[in-house]
Amino acid sequence: METNTIDNIDLTKLFDKQRKRSHELRTESIKKRKERLRKLKKWVLDNRSKIQEALYKDFKKPHSETDLTEIATILLEINHNLSKVDEWARNERVDGHITFLGSKAYVQYEPKGVCLIIAPWNYPFQLMLNPLISAIAAGNTAILKPSEITTNNAALVSEMVNELFDESEVAVIEGGVQVTTDLLELPFDHIFFTGSPNVGKIIMQAAAKNLTSVTLELGGKSPVIVDESANLKDAASRIAWGKLLNNGQTCVAPDYMLVHSSIKDKLVDAIKEEMIKQFGEGVDDFQKSDSYARIVNDRHYERLSSIIEDSINQGFDILYGGKTNSDDRFISPTIIDGFDGRLAEDELFGPVMGLKTFDNLDEVVEIVNSKPKPLSLYVFSRRKKNKKFLLDRLSAGTVAINDTVQQQSHPNLPFGGVNNSGIGKSHGKYGFLAFSNEKAVLVQRSGLTNISMLRPPYGKAKKIIDLFINLILK
Ligand code: NAD
Repeated sequence: METNTIDNIDLTKLFDKQRKRSHELRTESIKKRKERLRKLKKWVLDNRSKIQEALYKDFKKPHSETDLTEIATILLEINHNLSKVDEWARNERVDGHITFLGSKAYVQYEPKGVCLIIAPWNYPFQLMLNPLISAIAAGNTAILKPSEITTNNAALVSEMVNELFDESEVAVIEGGVQVTTDLLELPFDHIFFTGSPNVGKIIMQAAAKNLTSVTLELGGKSPVIVDESANLKDAASRIAWGKLLNNGQTCVAPDYMLVHSSIKDKLVDAIKEEMIKQFGEGVDDFQKSDSYARIVNDRHYERLSSIIEDSINQGFDILYGGKTNSDDRFISPTIIDGFDGRLAEDELFGPVMGLKTFDNLDEVVEIVNSKPKPLSLYVFSRRKKNKKFLLDRLSAGTVAINDTVQQQSHPNLPFGGVNNSGIGKSHGKYGFLAFSNEKAVLVQRSGLTNISMLRPPYGKAKKIIDLFINLILK
């Protein structure tokens, strides 16, 4: 393999070191994996304020939001892995079959080997560590590539990994596109990528060169559907919270609303009320609120501001908000009465939402199905028939009925998208499986077996083969 160097770090050498270590890890006890997870847990608990500080510096993420969405999530995931990994890692016997009489068969969950984990900037700590927990639980080594946009977080992740792990087990390589491109040259055993669908395609293309398996946790436009039977107070409070968490920069954030025409005004009023209740007395208070994060950088601020401007130019009413301030990349919660152009095409990834009304659910199905399959689908309804109608017709990675965002933190549900919103699943057992090879093992009996009677010369075996097809395979 050619030598591949970044800032004096010889990537090929590092990779080879991890490859060697990964072979040793294959025979290590689960107890050792748990020790690593406990070490990680202790560091997160001991360094809570450092994590809060790094994310506040990166995009004014409120400390309590960091507690809830970066620290608590990680601790829950570690605890879940600690209590379940023995069970997940155990060989799993499969049912016997008449054609295999006398044999036994099982699945052995073996570590994939050396893994690359690439994280985005929006939940920069959690989305770097969550897959690492699964990688460790499944017995792998890992090279981590945090997002270069949230620089304070990237430095902290490096500090943590340097303190806790030998680089042969876990290492961090910081940097942007070039660094990731160099890393992607290496023949990893698995790549776990979280980020945008566009970059996901680049990752998958690079992985194909080495036939490396991938988990792609991507994004897209997640719709919220509110029918005429919905509890509007609940819907408003859950939509407002899910949309403004992390300033709307959440992969599973509600992206646009499809609302039954008979309840549009009531719902919009209720959402405004909820937003104000959560963040202050009026639109200007959002900027003063220490519970309201900021847009991560100028590029994203400009992108969102211009989507608002385009919508105004298209003649759409701003039902709420629309205030921006470039000094601290502030965009107020904004609801736009319209759904066209970039508002309808791009993943918004900020506190801006388009709205379109419908009169029957067929219209909803047509709109959602005309777009790439979303990461999340939200349905607010009290009608069983309506919920079933939509669930049967709309594909999505994850769904919440009468809630937003929460589905992704359920420990026993898989998390991930479908096609454009992702490939593969993560969290809990599904994360463990993403980093494991399900090795199929057949243990045959000695002497005569069913299959050995079917071997050539076929003249002699013909009668048994006929019997086999007629009796067993019919
Ligand atoms: P991004 O795709 O721009 O970047 C993600 C990572 O890829 C970063 O580490 C970056 O350095 C690297 N990267 C960027 N361009 C690259 C290139 N050309 N070649 C190789 N590597 C490259 O995503 P982002 O802006 O950091 O995050 C936002 C996106 O991530 C949104 O689409 C969001 O929905 C998605 N997301 C998905 C999930 C999920 O779990 N499904 C979670 C969070 C964010």
